[in-house]
Amino acid sequence: MAAPQVFPLSCAVQHYAWGKMGSSSEVAQLLASSDPAAAISEDKPYAELWMGSHPRGDAKILDDRISQKTLGQWIAENQDCLGSKVKDMFHGKLPFLFKVLSVETALSIQAHPNKELAEKLHLQAPQHYPDANHKPEMAVALTSFQGLCGFRPVEEILTFLTKVPEFQFLIGDKAATQLKQSMGGDSRSMASALQSCFSHLMKSEKKVVVEQLNLLVKRISQQVAAGNNMEDIYGELLLQLHQQYPGDIGCFAIYFLNLLTLKPGEAMFLEANVPHAYLKGDCVECMACSDNTVRAGLTPKFIDVPTLCEMLSYTPSKDRLFLPARSQEDPYLYIYDPPVPDFTVMKMQVPGSVAEYNVLAVDSASILLVVQGRVTASTPTAQTPIPLQRGGVLFIGANERVSLKLAVPSDLLLFRACCLL
Ligand SMILES: [Zn+2]
Repeated sequence: MAAPQVFPLSCAVQHYAWGKMGSSSEVAQLLASSDPAAAISEDKPYAELWMGSHPRGDAKILDDRISQKTLGQWIAENQDCLGSKVKDMFHGKLPFLFKVLSVETALSIQAHPNKELAEKLHLQAPQHYPDANHKPEMAVALTSFQGLCGFRPVEEILTFLTKVPEFQFLIGDKAATQLKQSMGGDSRSMASALQSCFSHLMKSEKKVVVEQLNLLVKRISQQVAAGNNMEDIYGELLLQLHQQYPGDIGCFAIYFLNLLTLKPGEAMFLEANVPHAYLKGDCVECMACSDNTVRAGLTPKFIDVPTLCEMLSYTPSKDRLFLPARSQEDPYLYIYDPPVPDFTVMKMQVPGSVAEYNVLAVDSASILLVVQGRVTASTPTAQTPIPLQRGGVLFIGANERVSLKLAVPSDLLLFRACCLL
């Protein structure tokens, strides 16, 4: 009998402190729905669900016919499941990690190195940069999802310099004037002026940062108490970040970076060297297999200011939404295909009136997550159909045909990660 190439997984939950608590977390809800035996503790954060073969959260295989216990072990011994191109290009390993994130308090402001820089950093400081790979990331919102992404257009930063004297104080007159003067010039001089402003902020003395932040917090609080709207300088968000990370330089980053609120299904793509932070909400996330993060603030972890200021891409841009393409072959399929080889994310939104839905066969291993709906999955190799409901996760070997029969006539929402080379 041929080994099954499609099987359900039980995925690892990470209880990082920034996660949403108990059943308010999408991660906990998915877990509770897919595994009725899972007891959700309301006083515990459920931050991330890891759907992949990462050694710190290798998914367990829920199929008694398979002798290997985890996805990582199974892939190591069944490399053809990856698809021939993926197997060669990524040396027999699954090239991506697929996740669900439920964010209650902001994650650090960060950027990820490109491959060249990752190799260099890993050689120089393996304790901070544990591997030599890049780490492009994509987040697709499941609920309203707020994040910071990329530098704002310079005009916006100049407006904040005028309206927020505490911000201007940390940047200093010289760098601020340089930024203003760069407005009419070419993109190179603008980038260099922006780098100078950002570096001034990041290299400010801690004591001065705390002083200026306290002044700003006091000013906003007083104005809000007096009934004045401070939304032109994101008063509420600043107070919220300061409450989460008192005295942290990262609070000022909201005046440098675009603030995005993604609606469900909207996405942002974080390519190498783009500064970003997730602030609040639930999303599915896909990333290349790496742990290389250079942090800038809103974190108690190691901050590498010189590397960060040096590596960032100082290209201001307003438009940071990453748009999916609608599939030509499948009217229910949207494809988020970033300009990196490591992964592609697919969203499938199938109306409940469809009795049976065929998942597109691709030449790549893939992981399918049921966010909404209930189905039974059948394949040419699976002997018995696999029941899946909200929170169910299915591994699909390369070129496998999977058909999903809707068990109830309600809409289906699925996300899938794969690698289209
Ligand atoms: Zn990141």
